[in-house]
Amino acid sequence: MAWLDEPDDEMLAILQREYDRQNTTLQLIASENFASPAVMAFTGSVFTNKYSEGYPGKRYYGGNRFVDESEDLARDRVKVLFGAEHANVQPHSGANANMSVYQALLDVGDTVLGLSLDHGGHLTHGSPVNASGKLYEFVAYGLTASDERLDMDAVAEQARAISPKLIVAGATAYPRRIDPAPFREIADEVGALLMFDAAHIAGLIAGGAHPNPVPFCDVVTFTTHKTMRGPRGGCILSRAEYAAAIDKAVFPGSQGGPLEHAIAAKAVAFREAADPSFREYASQVVANAAALGDALAGHGFRLVSGGTDNHLLLVDLRTFDADLTGKQAQESLDRAGITLNRNSIPDDPRSPFVTSGIRIGTPSVTTQGMKEAQMVTIADLVARALRAFDDDTALDAIRAEVNSLCSGFTPYS
Ligand SMILES: *Cc1c(COP(=O)(O)O)cnc(C)c1O
Repeated sequence: MAWLDEPDDEMLAILQREYDRQNTTLQLIASENFASPAVMAFTGSVFTNKYSEGYPGKRYYGGNRFVDESEDLARDRVKVLFGAEHANVQPHSGANANMSVYQALLDVGDTVLGLSLDHGGHLTHGSPVNASGKLYEFVAYGLTASDERLDMDAVAEQARAISPKLIVAGATAYPRRIDPAPFREIADEVGALLMFDAAHIAGLIAGGAHPNPVPFCDVVTFTTHKTMRGPRGGCILSRAEYAAAIDKAVFPGSQGGPLEHAIAAKAVAFREAADPSFREYASQVVANAAALGDALAGHGFRLVSGGTDNHLLLVDLRTFDADLTGKQAQESLDRAGITLNRNSIPDDPRSPFVTSGIRIGTPSVTTQGMKEAQMVTIADLVARALRAFDDDTALDAIRAEVNSLCSGFTPYS
């Protein structure tokens, strides 16, 4: 063989450290999960060797018979899972999926209505630092000031005023159900297309814990690695009439050769998500988030919108400690072995780099087998760590407790 004989000890040591980190600390980042060993095996499979530009049956390279079988199976499984007419499983990521949809449905300069970044939207929903905001005229809708829910009256009013070509529903930091039906009504009234970005909640939808937007939308995009629990990647579902435009926008429009090893792993994840056990998983994710929210509220934290319907909580730290920033909280919790991210809360007085909030998600801990009782423990650990946010000795002691909690629920043995 032409390959090196000696193992890469330097890289193996780094891998071991990351493996230990995942096994011994709490992963509460709402967009993360633990993929199954089967998903990881296919991600590392010989499909990584293959060039297969094009689509099943229409490739630009030879030797794609089995790649075609794999990609066809991925497309068929995901169409059944969500009841979609068409699927493109090639986007390398959620951002790529969104940009391809825009390229398929819009001309440069077209007007789009999307959720404001400050109120939980995503960079690819028109942020000025993202290509979406540079190429298209995004106008932002937001949440009500009173109950911090999507302000659908304002969405309707704005849609009438600006006649967008496309309305984008979906969020990256919104703890409540997003009802697709009123978005459809508004889109129909103003003659707009409707895209739902289900990046975060695709697994909840597949598991029956959130309404399915597919019957209401022209296009639905999602990531396969968040609640969906597959390999890192993106996916686009659409009505049949947009299939050709979307496929063209993904390849050759914006990507080259597809990651067929990731597509094989997506097929595996879609099968896992169709299993009855995944329905239990999705409903436990939601139950755990609710339990964690209740317990955190009991410690004096304010939950944005008053609670959660899904897998995540947005926590306003100011009622707990007026001077504690999201940045400081994230750093102190990291020291205590509790991994999560700072997050702006609606109309945050602090900058997005500092913030007054944190975002907490339950997809990973639920995959590990934790239930409501462990959520109460986690809320207690978070509250104690944040009370001792500048005391390294106390934080190290909490980290030992976190290690011991995690040792009963290691995702990978
Ligand atoms: C995570 C996310 C994306 C982007 O996914 P990547 O795979 O990180 O590119 C897009 N939209 C929303 C709403 C997200 O939460």
